[in-house]
Formats: sequence, C-alpha cells, structure tokens
Amino acid sequence: AAGADGYDRVLLKLSGEAFGGGGVGVDPAVIRDIAEQLATVVARGTQVAIVVGGGNFFRGAELSQAGMDRGHADYMGMLGTVMNCLALQDFCEKAGIETRVQTAITMGQVAEPYIPRKAMRHLEKGRVVIFGAGAGMPYFSTDTVAAQRALEIEAQVLLMAKNGVDGVYDADPRTHPEATMYRDLDYATVLTDELAVADATAISLCMDNRMPIVVFNLLRDGNIARAVAGERIGTLISR
Ligand code: UDP
Repeated sequence: AAGADGYDRVLLKLSGEAFGGGGVGVDPAVIRDIAEQLATVVARGTQVAIVVGGGNFFRGAELSQAGMDRGHADYMGMLGTVMNCLALQDFCEKAGIETRVQTAITMGQVAEPYIPRKAMRHLEKGRVVIFGAGAGMPYFSTDTVAAQRALEIEAQVLLMAKNGVDGVYDADPRTHPEATMYRDLDYATVLTDELAVADATAISLCMDNRMPIVVFNLLRDGNIARAVAGERIGTLISR
C-alpha cells in the first residue's frame, strides 16, 4: 500500500490511445502534459517506470482480422509502442527528467535493451524508465507486459491510466449511463465478469502474485500525480 508520501516505486501503464489524443500518431499536447505531471512526482522522490501501449498506431488483433498475418501485425504493434516511448522520452527530458528507454526488441540506435537490473539502477538514480516493444512476443498485450514489468522491477503497484474512463464499471459507461464504478474490486470478479480492465493474462498474473492495480482516468487534470501519490482515485483491484 501507499505510505504517507505515496508510493516509493510504481509501474505506470499508459495506453497508446491516449498518446494519439484520439487519432493516429502522437499528440504533443497530451504527451507534454503527461511529462510535466511525471516531473512533479519524480521531484518528490517516487521512482517511476512506464509501459507504453501502441494502440494509436497498430493493434495486431485488428490488423489480423483485416487479413494480415498475426505475427507480422503484432510486431508492427510492438514497433508502434517504441515511437510513443521516444516521444515521451523527449517531452520528459524537456520537463527536466532524466529518462531511459528500454525495449524488448533490441534496437541499439534508439534505446537500451531490456535489462531489469539496469532498469532498477536507473530508477534508484531518479531516472524514469520507459519500457517499449511490449514483451517482444506476439499474442501478448502491453497490459500483460505492464503486469510482468511491475513484478520484475518490484513496483508496489500497477497504475493503469485509462483514456477517458474514471475506473472500472459494472457496464460500459459510454453506452450505459446508469453504470456504476467500483471503488474496490477483487481479481476474480474482474475475470469472471469479464470487466474491461485489461486482458485475462494481465489480471491473472497480478492475481497470482498479489500485485495491486489502480485503474484511473488519465484525462483528468493532475490524475497521474494523484495516483502516484497514493490518493484513492479510480478503482483499486487488490483482493
Ligand atoms: N503487442 C504484442 N506483444 C506485446 C505487446 C504488444 O504483440 O508484448 C502488439 C499487439 O499487436 C498490440 C499492439 O502491440 O495490439 C499494441 O499494444 P496494445 O494494444 O497493448 O496497446 P494499447 O491498447 O495499450 O494502446
């Protein structure tokens, strides 16, 4: 759980959808705002690692439905996440935070390879570490990678920043205005009710290893800072 000053080390999952500001490509205004919020939490001493999605470029499942080979489509999806990482790195550095990008697919010219112990060392030095290229494996999601990285780098919590929804609801709030948001949830309910939080692989990894998840709205002003500070926003999945 969060201490009085919030968490010591967090894994923040940012959806690619947010990066695109609703479109394809990157929206600099959105990324600048994320970077500025990160600067405030890093200045307070919280260690922040980030997994970035890629849905603003390619989603493998969609491309494969449209006729592409699933493996190729998923690799395109993973490469898309790296573009988001580089954009986020740039804005973080403009906001005065040191960052390192580590990718699961090696590309030495643009990023370090994923080396967990090195990532933890960067975090201890106050650098934000941004993980790209997913797991480097087709058929996985960046949500699952976020759960895995959170476990491996020993983060206290997985903070899942969603694009426009405040937390986890009992029905889709965009089509069911009467839907109610859960404040607390257990992993098993997320799985059995197929609640739209993350894929089942990600949820079961967290359940098996007792990694708490906070689902919150990225688009509300200052919410990243709030979530990292341990404020009870959104939905907490922890039982
Ligand atoms: N992807 C993959 N393996 C991974 C992570 C991601 O194949 O370990 C691919 C997959 O095709 C996915 C795409 O990368 O659709 C973009 O990631 P995701 O959809 O998870 O991004 P988000 O929804 O968070 O924007």
